[in-house]
Amino acid sequence: MSEIKLGIIGGGQLGSMLSNAARKLNIKTVIYCDDLNAPAKNFCDEFIFGEYNNKEKIHEFIEKVNIVTYEFENIPFETLNEINIKKSVLPKPSINRLIQHRLAEKDFINKLNLRTTQYAAIDKKSDLDSLKDLLPGILKTTTMGYDGKGQYPIKEINEIDTLNIDFSKSYILEKLVKLKKEISVIITRFGNNDYEVYEPIENIHEDQILKYSSIPADISENIFNQSKNWTISIAEELKFIGTLCVEFFIDRNDNLFVNEIAPRVHNSGHLTINAYNVSQFENHIRAVCSLKKVPLKKLSNARMVNLIGSQIDQYRKNNKFNENEFFFDYLKKEVKEKRKMGHITTLIR
Ligand code: ADP
Ligand code: MG
Repeated sequence: MSEIKLGIIGGGQLGSMLSNAARKLNIKTVIYCDDLNAPAKNFCDEFIFGEYNNKEKIHEFIEKVNIVTYEFENIPFETLNEINIKKSVLPKPSINRLIQHRLAEKDFINKLNLRTTQYAAIDKKSDLDSLKDLLPGILKTTTMGYDGKGQYPIKEINEIDTLNIDFSKSYILEKLVKLKKEISVIITRFGNNDYEVYEPIENIHEDQILKYSSIPADISENIFNQSKNWTISIAEELKFIGTLCVEFFIDRNDNLFVNEIAPRVHNSGHLTINAYNVSQFENHIRAVCSLKKVPLKKLSNARMVNLIGSQIDQYRKNNKFNENEFFFDYLKKEVKEKRKMGHITTLIR
């Protein structure tokens, strides 16, 4: 292949950062997105606007690229499958289908004998009656959720009526884990037993949205190793190609639980851009485009803060940063409450 043209579905900040990483590797990117104002427009080589089920537009996209990847999970399986007939889609569409469904995802993790919180499928309101053991818990839509969207914390059964929940959708009820902390582990897998794993990242959420990520995570050696090993098992079992992130809970008794899997680059890994020789984004591109793997080296400890909603304003006005601070503006046109607008990574030596 003389020139690789990589298609990326989704045009948010992750698509932007993937495009930046591709440019560094002399790979051209074509982004397909259903948002005319997608921020990644500013970073890719070519942009196609279309709905994710628009066959004609998708066809135009397929014709322009050699390989296709994606920056978010909520893409119709049919679309990924159809693209995959003509151009290789990585990670495989079947992996995305499994992980975009919270119930299928948790069943898969449990089959690997890895711990998750207790959970149950909820298809109608009365299913909740027999599940008092799972309270306090969180009711989540089985599909399409992100950044805490589609989630309802529930302490007692009778709260359900006040929440106005649309039971035409299907849900999962998860028992609340008494959290000591949350961590994530990012891996890029190139082939059988061929991968690079980043060290566990400690994450702090506010209103169920990621706010701070840092390395090193303040965890025991046991949790450090266990979380890395579980991540490797998941990636190997999926025969995953590309970058994947596993989000974990640690409870107050120091038990590790898998929260969820992201079959893609992840917000908690933004700090890998500055803190490692190869970022999660560059590694993803290297893996899906079959480029050479570079041995991973950590360069620095780091802390990242997400700028949510109007928190970005002051940094846009006054962009004086120290040498060890890296400010990213996602160039989103509209500032919205709870919207991730940018981030700052600080390297800590
Ligand atoms: P999303 O897809 O929105 O990231 P998550 O399932 O990761 O959804 O939930 C977002 C955050 O909400 C988690 O990172 C955690 O802070 C909190 N949370 C979700 N489920 C649970 C749970 N079962 N126990 C404790 N905290 C939870
Ligand atoms: Mg999550």
